[in-house]
Amino acid sequence: MNRKKGVLAVISGFSGAGKGTVVGKLAEKYEDYVVSISATTRAPREGEKEGVDYFYKTVEEFEEMIEKDELIEYAKYVDNYYGTPRDYVIEQLYLGNDVILEIEMQGALKVKERIPEVSLIFITPPNAEALKVRLFQRGTETEDVIAKRMARAKEECAFMSSYDYIVVNDDLDTCVEEIHSILKAAHHTKSNSKALIERISQDFKSM
Ligand code: 5GP
Repeated sequence: MNRKKGVLAVISGFSGAGKGTVVGKLAEKYEDYVVSISATTRAPREGEKEGVDYFYKTVEEFEEMIEKDELIEYAKYVDNYYGTPRDYVIEQLYLGNDVILEIEMQGALKVKERIPEVSLIFITPPNAEALKVRLFQRGTETEDVIAKRMARAKEECAFMSSYDYIVVNDDLDTCVEEIHSILKAAHHTKSNSKALIERISQDFKSM
């Protein structure tokens, strides 16, 4: 069968960098992308739906998923578990769909260990001040929480260089187009073209 596998990409970024908006816009604009739905032990926020935003689990259920190796990766983030269910992602990749995981950094690095051909994309605001302004404008956090998120962003800077691509989210449409270009290019990397390389090599051998 010559059908090409989809590519896998992880999108991470500082809290408030706008990664949720970017991923939403990307999936809305292009039909090429499937966004993985994570499992979590955190309670649903107002308006969130089971199986749409997350699969909501108890700690026991989540730990059972870990034991059964049903997750590609998982991490604890602010006292809750978050993880990526494996089967759906693998199935979509085999169907030829590009899959996006919007996950935090520890999880991103675990995915890279298990699936080295993944493209790790980090979204950052143009500067630290812009992140602070966005967190204030969002109006959902207290000053104390904003200070904590800024402190966490400061620590997370050390991990940016572990990513394959760094994209600035200054203008939403530009950011979405840049990520789309990265994913288009990812189809042509040597690690995502193993089957093609093998087929062409066989082709020439049999001449
Ligand atoms: P929130 O509670 O705001 O929805 O998400 C908190 C953080 O968890 C975000 O940085 C989000 O990207 C991350 N996250 C969501 N799903 C997963 C997942 O499956 N695995 C990991 N490692 N992080 C996740």
